[in-house]
Amino acid sequence: MNLPGDMLQATERALREAQPGSLVGMIHVHVRRIRQIAVALGHAQAAALPDAVATRLRDALRGSDHIYRIGSQDFMVLLPQLLSPGHAELAAQRLLREFERPLQVGDHLIMAVVALGLAWSPEHAGDADALARRATAAVDDAIARSTRLHLARGAGEDALLLEDLRAAIRGNELSLVFQPIVALRDRRIAALEALARWHCPRRGDVSPDRFVPLAEQGGLAADLTRWSLYAALREHADVLRSAPAVRCAINLSPRVFAEAGLVEQIVAALSIWGVPAASVVIEVTETAVMEDPEVSARTLSALRDVGLGVAIDDFGRGYSSFSYLRQFPATELKIDQSFTRDVVRDDRTRRLVGAMVTLAKGLGIETVCEGVEDDATLQVLVDLGCDNVQGYLLSRPMPCGDLGRWIASHSPATATTG
Ligand code: C2E
Ligand code: CA
Ligand code: CA
Repeated sequence: MNLPGDMLQATERALREAQPGSLVGMIHVHVRRIRQIAVALGHAQAAALPDAVATRLRDALRGSDHIYRIGSQDFMVLLPQLLSPGHAELAAQRLLREFERPLQVGDHLIMAVVALGLAWSPEHAGDADALARRATAAVDDAIARSTRLHLARGAGEDALLLEDLRAAIRGNELSLVFQPIVALRDRRIAALEALARWHCPRRGDVSPDRFVPLAEQGGLAADLTRWSLYAALREHADVLRSAPAVRCAINLSPRVFAEAGLVEQIVAALSIWGVPAASVVIEVTETAVMEDPEVSARTLSALRDVGLGVAIDDFGRGYSSFSYLRQFPATELKIDQSFTRDVVRDDRTRRLVGAMVTLAKGLGIETVCEGVEDDATLQVLVDLGCDNVQGYLLSRPMPCGDLGRWIASHSPATATTG
């Protein structure tokens, strides 16, 4: 999200002019479900909604506070000269209360649902850009937790790690490893999933389970996605020379999934590396897809329209809604490891996975079972008719340098699963 220059300047000024002991607050206001409102009202009427929201914000604030519109459903509120964190929270609570009354939009009364993210300086950040990022990270948290207000976390360990991560992405210090996805039909390698790795010189290896969510909460989701996309496609262009049928699976952060320009960005990256869209699968988690099903359906269609494969990752982990599968034009369903792990010893899990496979087949969607670690599990998945498998039994994720040898040794003539 591009922040307006006047907002950054005003924030810098407020930070400079803050009296000793006083705080500068920032609230990211996100208006939720605006698309549903547009559908209900018609686009012409809905276009008046942001103005109505801005007026309502204005009513709740002091004269010295500033409001900036930063996107179709996002505003930033700058609160200079706050006496204490308690005053920052009070301002946020006052905003929330204002949205408990309906808004007049044209001839309609609309209940706007808002999520707020609050951060303040000096506790959370020292400059305008960082302060805005913390407010955005806080609103992302509020949205993810379905709460209405979320405060930024203090500048503790997370903030320090985030700064290192920012430098690592900019300095190209991350790397990718690739894990094969194998087709059960012929035991050929169907795809390679690109997984990010971070070896920090000071901290050692930092797990993606730690740094990926941190990137998302800390406003680095777009940078991380751009980095993985370019790095994965560069390697994949190389793989395609010896193995033209192998696809590349790339994880997309939930935060960028709903952003405008995503498809164009991917298409541009494909053309830079000369990789055909059909040999790339974009993985997005089920939870991300369910956040705003309507936008997701549209993004998934747009990805499909340019010829990309689309996989719904970690399927079954969140609150899966089977009915939505009808709407989501996915090409693959990746059944979460938590199911794969239990298919041998738990009859109900086995039946559930069997049902997912059958359902997917009926919709023309391929299945991938993740986290296959032993032969017994593999056999159950073969029996259930699962299309593809991925897991330590077949291969751990490996550095690019090892791919050529692995692919050559798993060509059909010598295919094994060991
Ligand atoms: P994911 O997309 O579900 O990736 C699969 C994870 O399962 C990987 O963990 C992989 O190493 C691990 N795995 C594969 N086979 C097995 C197995 O047999 N047993 C067990 N126990 N684990 C197995 P990893 O590499 O630690 O990545 C964790 C998560 O971080 C990924 O989960 C993905 O959500 C995220 N991630 C990784 N790289 C990227 C990236 O470049 N961009 C984004 N946005 N997210 C990424
Ligand atoms: Ca994945
Ligand atoms: Ca997964």
